[in-house]
Amino acid sequence: MIEHLRTVRQSAKTIALVPTMGYFHAGHLSLMEKGRELADHLVVSIFVNPAQFGPGEDLDKYPKDLERDRELAEKTGADILFTPDADAFYPHGYESFVVLEDLPHHLCGIHRPTHFRGVATVVTKLFNIMAPTFAIFGRKDYQQLMIIRKMVRDLNMPVTIIDAPTIREPDGLAMSSRNSYLTPAQRVQALGLINALENARKQVGDGELDTKALINNAKFLIDSHPDTQIDYIDICDPETLETIDKIEGMALMALAVKVGTPRLIDNMMLCPPGIG
Ligand code: AMP
Repeated sequence: MIEHLRTVRQSAKTIALVPTMGYFHAGHLSLMEKGRELADHLVVSIFVNPAQFGPGEDLDKYPKDLERDRELAEKTGADILFTPDADAFYPHGYESFVVLEDLPHHLCGIHRPTHFRGVATVVTKLFNIMAPTFAIFGRKDYQQLMIIRKMVRDLNMPVTIIDAPTIREPDGLAMSSRNSYLTPAQRVQALGLINALENARKQVGDGELDTKALINNAKFLIDSHPDTQIDYIDICDPETLETIDKIEGMALMALAVKVGTPRLIDNMMLCPPGIG
């Protein structure tokens, strides 16, 4: 891949990278479209990264359809689809990892303690291989986006991180490869996530600034569905991800909820009256 991109660089001035775990939906394709617009050459990677899954998570079950993904990536303008093999990526004796000291200790990182070490490591490896000009990430995985931005800044990585908005189903459910695990009944219950976020946004717009009250209302909306189990609901500073008690500026509400077995995440910016 390194050799190939060396040749590509003789004619392409800029390379965009879209890292993914595959099983594409319109959210992935929107990142590819952005990459296509920005750069001369578009690389899309598919890698279900074992280093970012904890014990008992869905590494072995993660949905796959490489043939369909290949067609969609090609149609969307990808020049290369990079699908490394896990054993080649982490050969026997592999021991180097990238660890951030603070940002991973909030939100999802509390419940998935090794997840962001795996994310930061795989993204660093991809950046080292591709040396992309741009790398595009979705705001759906907000904490991941912030961690990658911070890592790039802290370690002087010569890449520009571009973010892209969350693409949703017509009824508001954030698109996710994991939505394919949902039964029809769970699919309806999964709307609890977006309903809770929308409700909080509206309440904040109406002047409710106490995060405990907002979180309790969100809990109530999600718990009203029988198959949901809340991992966390938090309202935090959008830069530091520190939990806040009172909304005084833009704030991020983020949540993770198991709906049946699949664990779904979503987030939304909350904007108090008179700001933004
Ligand atoms: P994944 O394959 O789930 O690891 O996601 C690969 C990239 O797609 C990440 O940057 C995600 O944030 C992004 N992504 C996933 N779902 C969405 C969505 N619904 N809208 C926009 N981007 C998304």
